[in-house]
Amino acid sequence: SQQWRLRSRPHGTPKREDFQWDEQPARAPDDGEVLLRTRYLSLDPYMRGRMSDAESYAEPVELGEVMVGATVSEVVESRSPDFEPGQTVLGYGGWQSFSTEPARSLRALDPDVAPVTTALGVLGMPGFTAYAGLRAIGAPQAGETVAVAAATGPVGSAVGQIAKLMGCRTVGIAGGSEKVAYLEQLGFDAALDHRSGDLSEQLRQAAPEGIDVYFENVGGPVLEAILPHLNTFARVPVCGLAATYNATEPPAGPDRAPALVGLILRKSLTLRGFIQTEFVPTMFEQFLTDMSDWVRDGKIQYREDITVGLDQAPEVFARMLDGGNFGKTIVEVAG
Ligand code: NDP
Repeated sequence: SQQWRLRSRPHGTPKREDFQWDEQPARAPDDGEVLLRTRYLSLDPYMRGRMSDAESYAEPVELGEVMVGATVSEVVESRSPDFEPGQTVLGYGGWQSFSTEPARSLRALDPDVAPVTTALGVLGMPGFTAYAGLRAIGAPQAGETVAVAAATGPVGSAVGQIAKLMGCRTVGIAGGSEKVAYLEQLGFDAALDHRSGDLSEQLRQAAPEGIDVYFENVGGPVLEAILPHLNTFARVPVCGLAATYNATEPPAGPDRAPALVGLILRKSLTLRGFIQTEFVPTMFEQFLTDMSDWVRDGKIQYREDITVGLDQAPEVFARMLDGGNFGKTIVEVAG
């Protein structure tokens, strides 16, 4: 099996030298296990946290271990009655070309229902994150205004399109004119470029009645531009802070925490963080039903950014955190 192991904890943007390329024979499956050949590897922002030993909601990847990650794989050998060779499954094989996994952690995929890569994006964890965070925490009502950044990514694009299906006015924020044009194509009511100057002024024009739900994907200057536009009783599902994952030092002063807490008080805001796993037991099945229908009926569109070759994974990952991806970031290991 070809593998990327974590060699060092990255300082700032991860570099190729932070990873070690290795080749090892794949481990034969025990009873209840399945040997898999990786077809597609998902690259997701949370992996930056796993590369670091700063305190987080999940344990870091140990130095010398294979980097973790969701995978779409083909069953090579099965020692479980539930799977047979040739089947395609969703698993958690990591950055490697073969993996040996417990059968109970795998989900069979039907390529006739949807392209199997969608299990890593719109019909998988990122799509579910959008669905759960928006509905359970954002709770938008028809007619309200919902804003989201990283809006062409798998989470943000689903947030905007689901909000639109719920009858909301949607404001998408992305980096660059090509992404903004795509947001318009997706049906966002307003599409703003956070790289093209005064975002606060752009927001004033795009959301003249203010923002009722801000789905927080990025933090940093985008959040600062959003805050003055939040309406009384606005809800902010805090999903991710992609703008800060490679930060090597705290932002320049002054300390803005007191002003933020003051705003929360004056405007009766709800800021509520979440990790999507919290909602899996109560919402995942309904998500799969709803999202599969929406995708099949063309009500939700999605875009994938697929690079061929496991050897490319470090660069592809680093590029994504800087906005170099356009859609769900996937590495094709063996199509
Ligand atoms: P994306 O594919 O959207 O990639 C991240 C995007 O963040 C980049 O493409 C870029 O988009 C944007 N970005 C990076 N730096 C900045 C910046 N300085 N200012 C503004 N935007 C920036 O990722 P996902 O859709 O997979 O994830 C989106 C967010 O959701 C992430 O924060 C992720 O950590 C979080 N998440 C949280 C989960 C949870 O359970 N809480 C689960 C899954 C994801 P652009 O070019 O448009 O600026």
